[in-house]
Amino acid sequence: MWFPKKMKIAPKLDERYQINAPKPNYALLINPFYRKDPRASFGKHVLTPTLALTSIAAATPLNWEIHYWDENLLQGHPPCEPFPSVVGITVHLTFAERAYELARWYRNRGAKVVMGGLHVMSCPDEVAQHADAIAMGEGVQLWPRILRDAEAGCLKQRYVGDFSQPYNLESAPRRELLPRESFLTTLSLIATRGCHNRCGFCYMSTKGLKMPYQMREPEQIATEFRQSDEPYGVFTDNNLGSNRDYLRGLCQELRKVDKIWSAAVTIDVTDDVSLVREMALSGCTGVFVGLESLIGENLIDARKKTPRPDDYARRVDVFHSQGIQVNTSFVFGFDHDTPDVFEKTVNWIEDSRLACATFHILTPYPGTPLFRKLEKEKRILHRDWNRYDTANVVFQPRKMTPDELQSGYEWCYRKLFSMRSSLRRCPRRIEDILPYLAMSILYKRSNYLWSLLIQHRLTHRLWHPFVERTRQRHLRFRKRLEQKELVLRPITPVNPGV
Ligand code: SF4
Repeated sequence: MWFPKKMKIAPKLDERYQINAPKPNYALLINPFYRKDPRASFGKHVLTPTLALTSIAAATPLNWEIHYWDENLLQGHPPCEPFPSVVGITVHLTFAERAYELARWYRNRGAKVVMGGLHVMSCPDEVAQHADAIAMGEGVQLWPRILRDAEAGCLKQRYVGDFSQPYNLESAPRRELLPRESFLTTLSLIATRGCHNRCGFCYMSTKGLKMPYQMREPEQIATEFRQSDEPYGVFTDNNLGSNRDYLRGLCQELRKVDKIWSAAVTIDVTDDVSLVREMALSGCTGVFVGLESLIGENLIDARKKTPRPDDYARRVDVFHSQGIQVNTSFVFGFDHDTPDVFEKTVNWIEDSRLACATFHILTPYPGTPLFRKLEKEKRILHRDWNRYDTANVVFQPRKMTPDELQSGYEWCYRKLFSMRSSLRRCPRRIEDILPYLAMSILYKRSNYLWSLLIQHRLTHRLWHPFVERTRQRHLRFRKRLEQKELVLRPITPVNPGV
């Protein structure tokens, strides 16, 4: 399988590099490199930026200068001229090692390194060994304090923040720091924080993470959306549908903007077909839904409150009936998964005509109930965090071997990205077929092209016309939808979880 070096290995840091002196009141924020999965689309890494660092940047005191660097945009190692006096690095499990390498490099040359992010919550003692300071919890709240302490020369080793501050008081992320040409759209939006579920494998269940569900004013989101000249916004919320009344209010505001958007929601939003219709009328063209498994017992074990899997196909149809494409995510390796789970899942995806799906190998993140369970059962195979990336098996599955799990996962991507499978999943409406096929080929079967686009910063330029055409098509569809009567169908009950 073709796998270019730049997608596999982080840029080299020059150990001989000498600096004069760090520039006072200049901070650099870094999103470290992580290894890509060559079976999946490289495009997903440049769809839209995460808001973590641009939100932190928005909290920077006015007497500080700030710069943003994402190593995954393949523009080489982070800048060092001028040399920053403070470097903020976000740390997640899969790129923790790279984050530590960067930290070592900058600290050796006199910068103060501050680390925040999910891995700091789950393994604070490990991260603290590599940083001058760690920020645990809500970073936006802590960042101004950290910079003031750094300026005064009294940086502390640990800063602990909570998520109690009203979310709607936070300033809008500083999107102008982002290299616009490198992303399909720079308009990442976030309306809510938290999730009503606490699935045992999800980082939201990390011990010590207390993130109450909070919502920003719908008008605030609509204003951010309107102010951007991007035609397409991507909500990065964990679950935009956690509070249905809120989602309805948000849709009513977004409807005034005439742009398109996509978001992650749980499948239970289809309990209320009128809500799905509101989503479509407000510009929603795609949803990302974590179905996780088609086996009910797996979902109960995972404590996921979700409708029964035998009703998933009908619910997917509810989205399709309102012109919303569905991208689902499946996780393999649960205790009730047997070696035939891969074929059954792909068949179901094809029968349901899903535009896209993503696959993951069950991965026990430290600090989660899943990690504790597998550790107790002595099923954790190793702690090489680099391979805790949901593309590698890191634990002993119950009803298959690690090799069966690994090769089954790889087979699913090969099968789904084949031309035959793309054709089998063609949308029913004739006018949607060509755009679907063009997108399918460009998005999923063109990693060679993606690699070039990313390196030459052409992603935005190539995709913008497609996105704009999709927006115009959606506006026409919306007019027709407004005239159509809503058909309500019965629903089936949920898996209670535990
Ligand atoms: S529903 Fe999704 S975001 Fe919420 S806890 Fe479960 S996996 Fe995590």
